[in-house]
Amino acid sequence: MTNEEKQTGRPRRERERQAAGRQGRRGSRRQSREARQRARGAGILSVLAAGVLAFLIGVGAGWIVGGRLEKEPVNLSAIVAPDWIDQQLLTVNPYSRPGKRLLEVNDIVVHYMGNPGTTAQQNRNYFENLSQQTGDNTVSVSSNFIVGLDGEILQCVPVDEVAYASNHRNSDTISIECCHPDETGKFTDETYDSLVRLTAWLCTELDLTEKNVIRHYDVTEKRCPLYFVDHEDAWEDFLADVKKARKDMRK
Ligand SMILES: [Zn+2]
Repeated sequence: MTNEEKQTGRPRRERERQAAGRQGRRGSRRQSREARQRARGAGILSVLAAGVLAFLIGVGAGWIVGGRLEKEPVNLSAIVAPDWIDQQLLTVNPYSRPGKRLLEVNDIVVHYMGNPGTTAQQNRNYFENLSQQTGDNTVSVSSNFIVGLDGEILQCVPVDEVAYASNHRNSDTISIECCHPDETGKFTDETYDSLVRLTAWLCTELDLTEKNVIRHYDVTEKRCPLYFVDHEDAWEDFLADVKKARKDMRK
């Protein structure tokens, strides 16, 4: 065995081969380091891209989630009543038509008259006659719409004005009073159908849905509209009918 061999324990050719191999490994290590850096670069880019995408989606979702805040305000004064609504607007007066501008409508409130057998016309005239009150014990009450026993619809107060029906929600709601034949407060089929039609039309015009249709009960817990307070399922059915009518109306 030569010293050379002893020192290394391997013939020169093999050492050379191994040296070349080390160099090759170093070379491939460098290549893989560059590949890793490239991959890291691509990773950073895709994280950035994902961030930008998430931001854009967030902004988009923000428009949807905050829909009420972001959407165009409805111009209440531009809403034109269809011919199936009988407009008999009250005289502007402090007790039933204060002439106060309604700036926004967030909900539609359904009521029942609580005075069995009275007609839409009688109730409309009652609201009108409140303007003649004198003395200390005055009454203030009205509604934007009245639906009668035969399904007739009277409008007493414009949709861009405050009516006196829903307490602290008068300033951001539209009110609908409904006539009924008896003490149960159940509406006739004609009243019911007109109420569905009117509510669906208002939802469409006001850019609202049945989620924005509430009972007086939901405002103050007053048992109004009585039948829909006593029969929660009937109220849910009514909202489903409004939804259907609203969708049909859009076609
Ligand atoms: Zn009520």
